Amino acid sequence: MSEPLLPPIGMLAELTHRCPLQCPYCSNPLELLKANRELDTQTWLDLFLQAADLGVLQVHLSGGEPTLRRDLEQLIAGLSARGVYTNLITAGVGIAEGRIEAFAEAGLDHLQLSFQGARPATTDRIGNHKGGHEKKLETARRARAAGLPLTINAPIHRHNIEEVPEFIDLALSLGAERLEIANVQYAGWALTNRDQLMPERDAVERQAEIVAAARERLTGIMNIDFVPPDYFAIYPKPCMGGWARDAFMVTPDGTVLPCHAAQTIPSLSFERFGPRSLADIWTDSPAFNAFRGTDWMQQPCRSCERREIDWGGCRCQAMAIAGDAAATDPACAKSPIHGRMAMLIDEAQRAAAVPSKDEQFVYRRIGVVTEPA
Ligand code: SF4
Ligand code: SF4
Repeated sequence: MSEPLLPPIGMLAELTHRCPLQCPYCSNPLELLKANRELDTQTWLDLFLQAADLGVLQVHLSGGEPTLRRDLEQLIAGLSARGVYTNLITAGVGIAEGRIEAFAEAGLDHLQLSFQGARPATTDRIGNHKGGHEKKLETARRARAAGLPLTINAPIHRHNIEEVPEFIDLALSLGAERLEIANVQYAGWALTNRDQLMPERDAVERQAEIVAAARERLTGIMNIDFVPPDYFAIYPKPCMGGWARDAFMVTPDGTVLPCHAAQTIPSLSFERFGPRSLADIWTDSPAFNAFRGTDWMQQPCRSCERREIDWGGCRCQAMAIAGDAAATDPACAKSPIHGRMAMLIDEAQRAAAVPSKDEQFVYRRIGVVTEPA
């Protein structure tokens, strides 16, 4: 039996795919949209009003780099006027003087700032942007001075996993309320760069111990969220809290999706805001209904006691690894092809051991995707 359809609580608005950085793990699709495909200010404002009417309580303003939108203050003010909680997710590079203060004045509730490394050299190399680290430190200081609560986001992979203790110190030194240690999810650009990004088993285990100890030590001082790596897991995560269950996302051209990578499932087609209302898409879109609840599940998920805990894991990971979006997420030990995860980890370790292959990222950029030589 499926639970009744409830209104969504959260929305991720990808305002643009433009970004000054080129992270090789970016969750944006490989085919990035240019500026001329972005929704205009009024359409985003209309969409936000409909989202609030539908029940959305929090909007995460993301990208690409959302501060590249010159109308960001206006968009924040529109959401704030409806009492919607706003979280700005930024790379913190190149934000003009006075704008962070303007975001705060417009009603921004929270700022989430990503660091590609805890060390300047790592941040600059992973983001492929010289001087990026210094600019991020400055953004953090300005956000705190403007009175904005701050989360530091640390996307973790092989090239920065040993910097976890330094990430903790960095977040503390910047006065962050929260640190998110999030091992990269292998979708989008991270899937293309999987062999370059996959960490070693020992490092994953050390990281988990360091995070557990820091969480205990820093109770009441700073919250640490930990997103463990799927490929090393026994059970999958409830991706997006379950497919189209309480959140959705919108791409820069207004396409409404249940999750970041949903467009990698070729059997599904997704609708755009404008021709249809948000409420119609949430309720009736065949793509949203495809994996809602538990009726779609195959065995072993169908009879599993965890089916309403993790909702069968990630549909896009099932598509990428099992070739079937309705399969059990291969990250689950009960999946008949769970062993493939260990093989992919081993393959990545072997690829990393070849010096000419190591550290050659396919950097995220608009245009043709070229594999490393
Ligand atoms: S992950 Fe990196 S490249 Fe992608 S949007 Fe964020 S900062 Fe830009
Ligand atoms: S079998 Fe399915 S529902 Fe059960 S733990 Fe694995 S992914 Fe989750």
